[in-house]
Amino acid sequence: RENLKLGFNLTSADGTDIAITETSEPINACFLILVRNRELEGIISSIRQLEARFNRNFHYPYVFLNDEDFSQEFKDTVLNEVSGDVQFGKVEEDMWGYPAHINQTRAREAMRDMEKKNVPYGGSESYRHMCRFQSGFFFRLPLVQDYEYYWRVEPDVDFSCDIPYDVFRFMKTNKKKYGFTMTLYEIKETIPTLWDTVTDFRKDNSEMLMTDRATLWKFVADDNGAAYSRCHFWTNFEIASFDIWRSEAYLKFFDYLDSSGGFYYERWGDAPVHTIAASMFLAKDEIHRFDDIGYRHGTFSHCPMSPKIWHQRNCACDRRQDFDFGMRARTGCGIKVENYRREQRGDSSGS
Ligand code: GDP
Ligand code: MN
Repeated sequence: RENLKLGFNLTSADGTDIAITETSEPINACFLILVRNRELEGIISSIRQLEARFNRNFHYPYVFLNDEDFSQEFKDTVLNEVSGDVQFGKVEEDMWGYPAHINQTRAREAMRDMEKKNVPYGGSESYRHMCRFQSGFFFRLPLVQDYEYYWRVEPDVDFSCDIPYDVFRFMKTNKKKYGFTMTLYEIKETIPTLWDTVTDFRKDNSEMLMTDRATLWKFVADDNGAAYSRCHFWTNFEIASFDIWRSEAYLKFFDYLDSSGGFYYERWGDAPVHTIAASMFLAKDEIHRFDDIGYRHGTFSHCPMSPKIWHQRNCACDRRQDFDFGMRARTGCGIKVENYRREQRGDSSGS
């Protein structure tokens, strides 16, 4: 077993070991970074850690995206920090901005209302364009067409443990399509009609769906599907296959959501959209929780729960502060994923 040679084990979300076998196939993967010029310092901080903990051994390329032109200073500074190739792309208005069917007066009223209620980013128009882009467009950019996998990276995050193996190769070898570190509950006020829209989509497109037992559907569906659990993978970290979003099913799903206007009349985030799609269109084994990747975004962090991994990987994080499984566990949805996986194993062991 290759993983023993490497001196560590990977444990999947249901507690079983996963082998890291090397294939000689080249892996087409990149870091995908949507960022603004003014976030230069924050993205350099993230990249330094990513390079030190992972990419200095693998040299994967970077794709930087912005809805404006990157400044020369931004480009020069980034180039000094990375060990892989870099491409800078500009997102044009066809992928960033109001689609024709949106009533902008109504959208602005919704923003004013949400701002008054102090919903995070409730009053922000650019945040809505960003969420719609991250839901429906990033995978369509010409710049990323040659890549099979991406790792989404944001400014000002920490990668707090060594990642000594090739995570993209791990994804490919083990047929994983979607990888996450952390789960949260979505803020109610941002998604009043999202679940109803998903429910309508499922009724109209039942022929596209796998059985709910084959997927992580119960992670998102409460009360026999009557309500959204509000659980979502925190998409500021994602290691995933572009195929998910390029599939006919997802494109149809995105169009359905987009035409309802919820990205603007409400404030639908790409996290619940990606999560509901992954929980509906992927087999449960295609989704992987990276327990071994220490990660912090804002005040929430994930730290490997295994003391052995924590030591072996030189982690600089506090396991007690772990968002899904540490002392703050009740605020995350992680326990729900674990319980569900356990239940699924229990169900299938009898047959
Ligand atoms: P949060 O993580 O939900 O609090 O939101 P962020 O402000 O971190 O935004 C999420 C990601 O989108 C980050 O990588 C930002 O750099 C990026 N982002 C957000 N808004 C814009 C924008 O208007 N233009 C560009 N180019 N990037 C944006
Ligand atoms: Mn962020």
